[in-house]
Amino acid sequence: MGGYHDLGNYCQHRLVDMVAQFNLTVTTENSNMKCPECLAAGLKSRVESLGGTVTLMGWAPYWDEEGVYHSHDPNIRKSEYGCSNGHAWSEEYQAECPASGCDYGKDSKEPNCDKEKE
Ligand SMILES: [Zn+2]
Ligand SMILES: [Zn+2]
Repeated sequence: MGGYHDLGNYCQHRLVDMVAQFNLTVTTENSNMKCPECLAAGLKSRVESLGGTVTLMGWAPYWDEEGVYHSHDPNIRKSEYGCSNGHAWSEEYQAECPASGCDYGKDSKEPNCDKEKE
């Protein structure tokens, strides 16, 4: 077991490296991304992420009557993409509320978790 700790240090370093790379791939949430215009035209192209923006509306999470944590972030995230055939487009999305049974940010943009479903 003598050299275990040295090896451990080394591995931890590598692990951080791997995690950083892993995070990088995970943040591109659309794992299967194609240019919509090229797709419609039957062309192939390479898609690049051109960065993103987020609105800066103030908000605060809350806990409902059952003590369930709700995170209703009203900010719209916008990601921009470009393809190797010169097309450009963007996608807007909203962060989802982590509370189970709450649809905030999932389908519509209307928060409806405060209302009883009919
Ligand atoms: Zn394209
Ligand atoms: Zn909610």
